Amino acid sequence: MSRPAKVIIDLSALQHNLHIAQQCQSGRNIVAVLKANAYGHGAIEVAQSLQAHVSKFAVSSIEEAIQLREAGIEKSILLLEGCFNSSELHLCQQQHFEIVVHNTKQIDDLIAAELSAPLAVWVKVDTGMHRLGLSVDDAREQILRLHLHSNIAQPIVLMTHMASADLLEEEYTSAQYAQFIKLKQDVLDHMGDVLTSIENSGTMLGWPNIVSDMCRPGIMLYGLSPFSQPHNVSDQLRPVMSLVSEVIAIRTIEAGEKVGYGSTWTAHRRTRIATVAIGYGDGYPRNAKNGTPVLVNGERAELAGRVSMDMLTVDITDLGEVAIGDSVELWGQNLNANEVASYADTIGYELVTRMPIRVPKHYLP
Ligand SMILES: *Cc1c(COP(=O)(O)O)cnc(C)c1O
Repeated sequence: MSRPAKVIIDLSALQHNLHIAQQCQSGRNIVAVLKANAYGHGAIEVAQSLQAHVSKFAVSSIEEAIQLREAGIEKSILLLEGCFNSSELHLCQQQHFEIVVHNTKQIDDLIAAELSAPLAVWVKVDTGMHRLGLSVDDAREQILRLHLHSNIAQPIVLMTHMASADLLEEEYTSAQYAQFIKLKQDVLDHMGDVLTSIENSGTMLGWPNIVSDMCRPGIMLYGLSPFSQPHNVSDQLRPVMSLVSEVIAIRTIEAGEKVGYGSTWTAHRRTRIATVAIGYGDGYPRNAKNGTPVLVNGERAELAGRVSMDMLTVDITDLGEVAIGDSVELWGQNLNANEVASYADTIGYELVTRMPIRVPKHYLP
């Protein structure tokens, strides 16, 4: 017998979501974002499933890229934050990693390096996110240093990242895009050739007029909408991850009795409580509120009492027959992680990404 808490990763849902991404992009190149262990889904397995259908992969560090190479993934891999240290540049060249440069220190190091072959370089421009990237003016200047330099493959890629693409009424996204297009035109005038990359999932799904040569979908591949509102295309995505477990105890308590640590939940009637083998040690958020939906045998029940490390408790009074060993879904194909996240003051991105190693993953083809 093993502990019933597990994650099910449905690779057919991943393929379904990839098709939606391909339709959004009508044939442009897809760089599938696999950072943070593919948002908790398992970077190697996700890469194996996607590699025949996308142009490149993107991760956040050389360690994540090496993990994919060691697993036999041969596609080009982009390091979204570039090299953290110039000593990584040679390895990038050997392993066919493409690098982002987002500050002048990285560009100085790249120009000073003795490389035997050019590296593919993505120049990150800050058009309003104010997290990473060169200002538009600095980018114009620095790109001239990179142009035709022997360490740098041509054409370079000009990239930016949208701050508010999930807010469909925001003018901010259009303003960022306008700045980017102006810079692109300047670069084209000076250098004749440049590639571009803009879109994350929110931009792909919500801003069809924003197009670049290479889009960078993350969350949509995993089947979660980047939007907090219903959205016609996002609502067709299928969640790839389901977090499931089983009922391991059932009891009836009287009105007025309390459940769990800190006695934060009080029965207002005679209540049946099911205990489920899953807790914050399995990536379920401890701050999920009383009332957070939990599916027991596919029926909606409500979290009752604080989440413990290995267990949580659910009010099943209004459900049909429930027995020890019955199935529970915490989020996944039948209960959207974004909905659960809204009860824990977070977003679906965080719930899936912070899945700990102790929860075994089962891959469905
Ligand atoms: C994480 C990331 C993405 C993917 O974002 P999603 O919202 O998950 O689609 C794209 N580009 C960059 C630079 C990122 O860091």
